[in-house]
Amino acid sequence: MKSLEELVRKNIWSLKPYSSARDEYSGHQAHTFLDANENPHHTGVNRYPDPLQRDLKARIAKVKGVPAASIFLGNGSDEAIDLMYRVFCEPRVDNVVAIDPTYGMYGVCADINNVEYRTVKLDSSYNFKAKELLAATDSNTKVIFLCSPNNPTGNDLDMAEIISTIDSFQGIVVVDEAYIDFAGRESLLRKLDKYPNLIVLQTFSKAFGAAALRLGMAFASPEIIATMNKVKYPYNVNELTQERAMQILENVDVVKNQVKYILQQRSIMMEEFGKIDIVETVYPSAANFFLAKIKDTADATAVYNYLVGKGVIVRNRTKITLCKNSLRITVGLENENQELINCLKAYKA
Ligand SMILES: *Cc1c(COP(=O)(O)O)cnc(C)c1O
Repeated sequence: MKSLEELVRKNIWSLKPYSSARDEYSGHQAHTFLDANENPHHTGVNRYPDPLQRDLKARIAKVKGVPAASIFLGNGSDEAIDLMYRVFCEPRVDNVVAIDPTYGMYGVCADINNVEYRTVKLDSSYNFKAKELLAATDSNTKVIFLCSPNNPTGNDLDMAEIISTIDSFQGIVVVDEAYIDFAGRESLLRKLDKYPNLIVLQTFSKAFGAAALRLGMAFASPEIIATMNKVKYPYNVNELTQERAMQILENVDVVKNQVKYILQQRSIMMEEFGKIDIVETVYPSAANFFLAKIKDTADATAVYNYLVGKGVIVRNRTKITLCKNSLRITVGLENENQELINCLKAYKA
């Protein structure tokens, strides 16, 4: 890996971050807070939240088995994705490389930050070769984005190729594990010690059942985390989110049982899909959704519109690379899944 100083934008490396009132007092015992121009009347939300979310990180550290100093928390993973550009990529100079198709936010954040976004098409089984990704890089490539399990294809990428990418690339490799809880494999979190250029993204939005909280996690070396913390908004994770996330983490068994339910429903649903006339292919899934290709005789967009008319919404991915005529189906509750299957069985092309 190149040194972090080489990888981080010069203005960010030398940035002196905003120091909030709550940053400056921390570490001391205090009971009277006349430092932050807050309204002193207690409402539960009258005080600014902890800018570094210490209590929440301590809890996440336990659950994930990662030191608190290796955890960044953001306003969704989307904040962490955006920070990859703001921290590492000089606009109009640097570039990033990602697989295609994958999660759309990597490309949107590249555009917003005016950073070149290079893509390498997946093969027909939605996998990639490290060699091909690396061939798309040059000396200005700062970040490679991998998403595994991948969205919208649903499959877990080949782990040997992921590791080979991390091993060989001199810049940062981001592995987005938003769907890791459904994947049935060990997280790359266990490899953080070995690879200083690895950043793992996870989120409260999927298995943890808290998409509305907007809480994303990035795990990396303490040096990378400290740099991300310098750039983020001072109070990027609000107090209500921090409190509610703490409650969720007190009861991880609830999440585990929900994941189990979703995995059972996924397998029932995928089997049922295989029996539907208009379905050509049901792609393998390591996530809480799966991709289904509709037969040419039926047309995914027509099926999508038919479902909308029935009040059932799936994701039409037909315009996405390698996803022609395909719909992405999120696994829901049993009755919801059955409703979708019944609608599709009744569909007349
Ligand atoms: C849903 C999803 C996320 C989650 O984003 P949040 O901002 O944390 O809600 C991240 N990455 C991928 C690939 C996703 O599909």
